[in-house]
Amino acid sequence: MPGNELIGKEEIREVMDVLETGVLMRYEFDERRKGVYKVREFEEAFARYLGARHALGVTSGSAALKVALTALDIGPGDEVLVPAFDFIATYEAVLEAGAIPVMTDIDESLNLDPASMENRITEYTKAVIPVHMCGAPAEIDVIVSVAKKHNLAVLEDNAQACGGSYRGTKLGTIGDMGILSFDYYKTMTTGEGGMVVTNNKHLYDRADWYHDHGHDHNPAVGRALEGRTILGFNYRMNELQGAVGLAQLRKLDYIVSEQKKIKGVIKEALGRVDGIGFRTLHDPEGDTATFLGFNLPDAAAAKKFQGALKDRGIDTIYYKENAWHYAPNWEHLIGWATANSKQFPFAGHKGSIDYGVGSIPQAEELLGRTLFMIIPVKMADERMEQILSGIEKASKGL
Ligand SMILES: *Cc1c(COP(=O)(O)O)cnc(C)c1O
Repeated sequence: MPGNELIGKEEIREVMDVLETGVLMRYEFDERRKGVYKVREFEEAFARYLGARHALGVTSGSAALKVALTALDIGPGDEVLVPAFDFIATYEAVLEAGAIPVMTDIDESLNLDPASMENRITEYTKAVIPVHMCGAPAEIDVIVSVAKKHNLAVLEDNAQACGGSYRGTKLGTIGDMGILSFDYYKTMTTGEGGMVVTNNKHLYDRADWYHDHGHDHNPAVGRALEGRTILGFNYRMNELQGAVGLAQLRKLDYIVSEQKKIKGVIKEALGRVDGIGFRTLHDPEGDTATFLGFNLPDAAAAKKFQGALKDRGIDTIYYKENAWHYAPNWEHLIGWATANSKQFPFAGHKGSIDYGVGSIPQAEELLGRTLFMIIPVKMADERMEQILSGIEKASKGL
């Protein structure tokens, strides 16, 4: 939970700039705001940090996904490939756009497997959302090339690997569009918040219009007279979020480097245990080290080791049985329990819909014997000692 560990005077100072003007909205009030445009400044700084041409602040990562999917013209009748190991928001965003999320298998990095994309593609498939889960990149270059071959849009869900990269390019900027989340659990936080990024001006414009009721944001005429091309909704980021985001962004590289140090030490200790292997990292350099994923020979050993660690005060996550991060566990998705009573968009979809574990053998096998540890940005020496000796003691029972 890194960013939220570091909220301090830098965030307070940025927020005070906003409160002193009293202008909490990102648009308008040009006189009163005395030159304070925190969301705009955050977007510019973030785009620079990522090396992206455009960034658009929105209310959450979930909203960012919906805005991006809409900008990409994903809608009713379409199918979108998403990984089986994911946070539920990605699936929900596809459904919110009126399209069908198609569960796709994962590779040894525990991210969307490019090899399993091909057999999930149908005449309805329009896009793929590789999710850089638990801090580390999917094999994004291969995913992009498979997508190109089949004329699919690529939307990177980089809610969980903010600051990460793949072979020197920042995650979120490699596909047609990317999104980030700044919710309270994420690598950097604005309480709630998200960002849409792209190098494509047309896609940026569509996202910009859609996220604010269609407004074309023409400062020359003022908000009331602005033009519009498409209908939209309200996903605007506010100035308080932008202010916190600016302060957190300046801490992002520090967060990642501290996590890498802590992760490195724990990983070394685990590496000394017979039978323990690690989640494959397609680019170890680009890992943000928010999580440490490691595996045991089988599910029984994984659960036994998890219990032995827990007895020594060390928590790990067994995602195969997690309620929110593994699609086969979402009974409300499987049962088409949509908030609308018509079961839109499932009912009436022309393609087949399958959330059964039969189609994701690799996810079942890999997640069945993998444990994850959350890496904090601050760790007291005594705690590190406890973890290292706990690992050693727990390993005796294996
Ligand atoms: C957190 C998360 C989201 C959603 O972000 P929110 O800001 O919480 O709405 C989307 N995708 C993934 C993979 C996430 O982890």
